[in-house]
Amino acid sequence: MAPYLVDWRSRYRGTALGVVEPSTADEVAVAVRIASAHGVKVVPQGGNTGLVGGGVPLTKHEGSQQIVVSLRRLNRIRDLDLLDNVIVVEAGVILQNAQAAARTAGRLLPISLAAEGSAQIGGIVSTNAGGTNVLRFGSTRELVLGLEVILADGSIWNGLQRLRKNNAGYDLKQLFIGSEGTLGIVTAAAIKLFPLPHSCVTTFIAVPSPAAAVRLLRYLQSELGDSLTAFELIERVCLDLVFGVVEEARDPFEQSYPWYVLAEVSATVKEVVLDDIVERSLASAFEIGIAMDAVLAQSEKQRVELWRLRDEITEAERRHGPSAKHDISIPVSRISDFLARAPATVRTHVPHARPIAFGHVGDGNIHFNVLAPAEDADCINRAVYDLVTTLGGSISAEHGIGQSKIELLAHYKDRTSLSLMQRVRRALDPSTTFNPGKLVHVPPVRGSDL
Ligand SMILES: Cc1cc2nc3c(=O)[nH]c(=O)nc-3n(C[C@H](O)[C@H](O)[C@H](O)COP(=O)(O)OP(=O)(O)OC[C@H]3O[C@@H](n4cnc5c(N)ncnc54)[C@H](O)[C@@H]3O)c2cc1C
Repeated sequence: MAPYLVDWRSRYRGTALGVVEPSTADEVAVAVRIASAHGVKVVPQGGNTGLVGGGVPLTKHEGSQQIVVSLRRLNRIRDLDLLDNVIVVEAGVILQNAQAAARTAGRLLPISLAAEGSAQIGGIVSTNAGGTNVLRFGSTRELVLGLEVILADGSIWNGLQRLRKNNAGYDLKQLFIGSEGTLGIVTAAAIKLFPLPHSCVTTFIAVPSPAAAVRLLRYLQSELGDSLTAFELIERVCLDLVFGVVEEARDPFEQSYPWYVLAEVSATVKEVVLDDIVERSLASAFEIGIAMDAVLAQSEKQRVELWRLRDEITEAERRHGPSAKHDISIPVSRISDFLARAPATVRTHVPHARPIAFGHVGDGNIHFNVLAPAEDADCINRAVYDLVTTLGGSISAEHGIGQSKIELLAHYKDRTSLSLMQRVRRALDPSTTFNPGKLVHVPPVRGSDL
């Protein structure tokens, strides 16, 4: 059972009565029914790449027993319809396999993130995963058309529709998307597909500052429109971490710059010569001082190498040692303000801390991580989240709450939102069978709650 009881970063180790590996939605429903009848708690688990300890059981849950329900064996692609432009996949399908199936059929499944070789569709849906294509296609929430979900009483909700418009009542699927396995177990999802791009340009751009990066983002959007599909900000120190662990990683430039942007531009229109358009736009960006240097990938191999510099940051950081991670979002207009103030704010509390920043800047999502001993984490977290809140941001942009941020959510979320979340959870799962101790605590009902 060991691999199912520890999270990807080895921060959380839980205990469980057992691991159940059903292979159909009916079998999941039976497992939930039996567990619930015996007061056993159920922890749904996908690829176990989550970064907030949501998919592993608690060390101990107030005397009650827990099982892990792994969705790994629900791994069929049920349908791929080119007229509906939809793929219907079971929860245990690995994201990369779903992308490949779509590509083989001449379509794009645009959800993409560094963990796509292990993360599963059920986990992707349940965390409302973001990733590198949100700028153009939105988060998972915007891409899911329908869901099949096992409810806490063991019944199956078949909401596996593939409609683009449906205003017949509440949009129930949205409740389950991003609910981190606290409201039901996703067994299948219908996800939108898009035309495959005919050409794609990947460029690594040196920029003088985060403020310049934000101006470059808006400039390129005005020049290139929707074809700008990714725009990732990377601080120099992140590249140095990657060079330290990935032997074949090379600096794209001969000199070092303080900040970089990894941008991707894709065209779905045939016979558009993207390289020329991107080069012209970058030349103007150099002239107005919002970019300093750039390289364009000349082959698929080079494209993969450039993306690797971005994708390996999380792993390089993990190998470097402990860090306090902050997957935060703030309005795009305040990113440079945040990045100017946050390092100094952190250092007033922990002088030896080494902040690093990278992220999906087009979505206002920064991974602001601070390399420092674990004992400094609480103090650093408070300093960062206080600043984020002051700037109108969120303490979790895409990784969710899980067990790692449950107390922080209780502290930073407004009372009304917190109470609504508790009421939703209680209504769908009155005995808290699913994923106890994750996302939001559910206190006992008081008279005033009724
Ligand atoms: C290197 C790396 C890079 C990453 N990059 C990104 C990124 O760019 N963007 C991003 O959003 N995330 C990112 N993540 C986080 C993670 O990959 C995502 O959260 C992913 O969606 C989790 O999928 P999973 O199958 O591994 O889920 P798990 O880790 O197994 O579970 C995650 C949560 O979902 C619940 N769950 C899982 N399956 C189901 C189900 N079928 N029904 C109900 N609940 C379920 C679990 O209980 C848990 O709360 C990254 C992680 C790593 C390791």
